[in-house]
Amino acid sequence: MSLELQGLGVSRGIAIGKAHILFHNQPDVREYLVANNEVEQEVSRLQLATEQAKAQLKSIRDNIPANAPADVSSFIDTHILMLQDSSLTKIPVEMIRNRRCNAEWALQLQRDALINVFDEMDDPYLRTRRNDVDHVVNRIHRLLADEGVSDIDMDGRLQGAIIIAEDLTPADTMLMQHQGIAAFVTEHGGATSHTTILARSLGIPAIVGIGSLRRYIQDNEALIVDGETGTLIAGADARTFEEYQQRLNSFKQHIASLSRYKSQPSQTLDGKEIFLHANADSPEDLTTISNSGAQGIGLYRTEFLYMNRSSPPEEEEQLAAYRKVVEGMDGQSVTIRTFDLGADKTVDGGRNLNQTVTNPALGLRAIRLCLKQPNMFRTQLRALLRASAFGKIKIMFPMISNTQELLQAQHMLQQCKFELEKEGLEYDYHIETGAMIEIPASAICAEMFARQVDFLSIGTNDLIQYTLAIDRIDDHVNYLYDPLHPAVLSLIQMTLAAGKKHNIPVSMCGEMAGDPRYTRLLLAMGLENFSMHPNALLEIKQIINETNLGQLPKNALQILNMSDPFDAELLLEQINSPVH
Ligand code: PEP
Ligand code: MG
Repeated sequence: MSLELQGLGVSRGIAIGKAHILFHNQPDVREYLVANNEVEQEVSRLQLATEQAKAQLKSIRDNIPANAPADVSSFIDTHILMLQDSSLTKIPVEMIRNRRCNAEWALQLQRDALINVFDEMDDPYLRTRRNDVDHVVNRIHRLLADEGVSDIDMDGRLQGAIIIAEDLTPADTMLMQHQGIAAFVTEHGGATSHTTILARSLGIPAIVGIGSLRRYIQDNEALIVDGETGTLIAGADARTFEEYQQRLNSFKQHIASLSRYKSQPSQTLDGKEIFLHANADSPEDLTTISNSGAQGIGLYRTEFLYMNRSSPPEEEEQLAAYRKVVEGMDGQSVTIRTFDLGADKTVDGGRNLNQTVTNPALGLRAIRLCLKQPNMFRTQLRALLRASAFGKIKIMFPMISNTQELLQAQHMLQQCKFELEKEGLEYDYHIETGAMIEIPASAICAEMFARQVDFLSIGTNDLIQYTLAIDRIDDHVNYLYDPLHPAVLSLIQMTLAAGKKHNIPVSMCGEMAGDPRYTRLLLAMGLENFSMHPNALLEIKQIINETNLGQLPKNALQILNMSDPFDAELLLEQINSPVH
């Protein structure tokens, strides 16, 4: 009999394969007293396991393929840093010495203390990082129990397997990708966990959030995974297998056929040129970007430069990073966003800037933080200006909510220009500046900003969060995330209208721009500049190149007034139907 389980589809794609159950038995940790003369031996046992865990992670990181997304190594680095932190290297050692307890128990007590701290954090993003503590501690526990890194290291056995697990670490995911797994399904995890972000970047179909998974699935059982709908099917009949096999084949063909779009211009069938740019976080993204055929970088997030360190990067370090990117883009433009720290992007480099606040997403983040930290901001502006001597850079200010913020930022930029001139340092005097439209108020008043900048860019991730009042990283309200909500679409339309009226380009750089379901609708609304994850670009280009704007349904824009989400979905289907 077939069994269908529903979870959250977090990484698109179909997989058919055998289940490989990978539940690590939760270590049964008990306290026991260590003899006085064996305490130091117990300390060494813990230190050795911690060192081994670190060595394992380093070896995984060093074997990451050169074309893997930059996220991969940064997630693993986070775990390495945790293993070096005194909370795991010193405190459990003191416990062993003070309590004369075994290494496992000391580690478990410290794990519980750390988890409590994370659970009490206001920032939901940091709260979800409790999983990282568990992943790291679990690895040491496994080593203490002499279990090694479990089944994941088994050569060849995972080829084509569908991994069934309670939860997976980014490092596990990386290792398993090397082993050729077909998909994974976990009991825990959310749409924004590091592991699922990684799965998307690596193109591994994935479902998370199916509770009690282990009770339903047997090892080696034939399974079907649909990473788009979040459906897991066990014990399917021959017809269902055949149906999914066909869907899998056409998905593979579709992905393979996209490469031919790389060198094609992006243009609708009726000749409208559309500009496709990539989003990037670090110079390592350049290879993926060049493979995507992007016409430039539409959003370069600079936050990552400030993360995992105790002080913000100096001007020279930033200059080197921006220069590398702009030179790597070989004459194409690079839109660099000034640091959008705060809220979910809390970092050590910005420590103490945004402590215990109830609503971090509404707090001191993005441009607000830039203006509150003028020295840090000026350092970045100077580095950006200096990098503009080496290629085409545009500067973009995040989360602008009023004209004063914009004027102040531009005034500071002007001051930096004067300084550089005095110092005889080169920069692009005509460097363009833009504002991100991420707050409903700014979309409504987009005209005010359009008069003051060279371009606008719609950040739909935040715009949707603020319009619909849903914390973008809170799994409990994820179901309310709806780019088709008439309020969201109206705000997008207002921004596009403001750009048109003031004759400046408007781009979209949030996730919505890279989601193929919305491409035609956005084209119908008049969007001409898209910026997205480079992996999404060729698929979006294909849709654009197969669209005839003149043949889109005449009532397409009625979607903006549809109160019933069901009607909106139906109209979207009509807009997306192949006839057009
Ligand atoms: C957005 O909000 O849509 C955006 C592109 O910025 P970020 O996701 O970095 O907040
Ligand atoms: Mg944003």
